[in-house]
Amino acid sequence: MSDPSVLLVKANLKQLRLPAMQAEFEKLAREAAHAGESHQQYLLRLTELEVAARSANVLRARIKQAAFPVQKDLDTFDFTAVPGLNKQKVLELARGEWLEQRYNCCLIGNSGTGKTHLATALGLAACRQGQRVRFFTAAGLVNRLEEAQQQHQLDRVLTQLDKTDLLICDELGYLSFSRSGAELLFQVFADRYERRSLLITSNLPFGEWGQVFQGERMTAALLDRLTHRCHIFEMNGESYRFRESMKAKKGKPGRKEAKEAATES
Ligand code: ADP
Ligand code: MG
Repeated sequence: MSDPSVLLVKANLKQLRLPAMQAEFEKLAREAAHAGESHQQYLLRLTELEVAARSANVLRARIKQAAFPVQKDLDTFDFTAVPGLNKQKVLELARGEWLEQRYNCCLIGNSGTGKTHLATALGLAACRQGQRVRFFTAAGLVNRLEEAQQQHQLDRVLTQLDKTDLLICDELGYLSFSRSGAELLFQVFADRYERRSLLITSNLPFGEWGQVFQGERMTAALLDRLTHRCHIFEMNGESYRFRESMKAKKGKPGRKEAKEAATES
């Protein structure tokens, strides 16, 4: 028969919503008794567990809200594959000061060069620093804005976006938008100017953004704001995906096909 005080402590911790303490207090009490710890030391260790569990929950929720397509982190990013990329600068950005300074970041380069991977890794780093992050593809963001406009909810969505410390807009340039879509996107980007950070990835060099924003004036106005305080990384080179698949194929008997595929592209 267990000690009634144990049951009461459990019930109290449950009522106070302290699940980590509830789960661990008995084990820690045994350890504390064994190690001859004071009551304060025991209480400290127990409360530390709850604090740590809460921070982990908050971080998990923040990462979920960011809606990353996949969780790619810096530890799996191979900098040697992109020799033109300034690794020190990327690591500096991962420390997050650029967000405090309301800087933007643009990753420009061909398909498969790691832009989405890096954007996600920088977004995850920002989440860990307590920042609110939201990841969209450019097409997804425009869809969201157009839908909101049709449902007379644009203000609500804009307010939500405004609350994010870092808005990531991936794959700008793969699809062009309707005039109204481009204007909505412009509005979101322009609203953040010097107030909140943007991270944009694009396969298009800045000189070709007119294709996306239809009209030189809007593009010029956007680029002026976006690049005023901006870390720009050019990630041109061979596609990492392509290189990896070639490596894998070379290891297998189908060498001839790999060679053919390489010459075809
Ligand atoms: P992009 O967005 O530029 O088209 P991705 O970031 O989607 O490219 O990269 C394509 C795939 O290759 C992903 O699975 C990504 O994790 C991987 N990848 C790209 N570059 C690197 C790199 N330098 N190190 C490790 N993985 C990479
Ligand atoms: Mg991508």
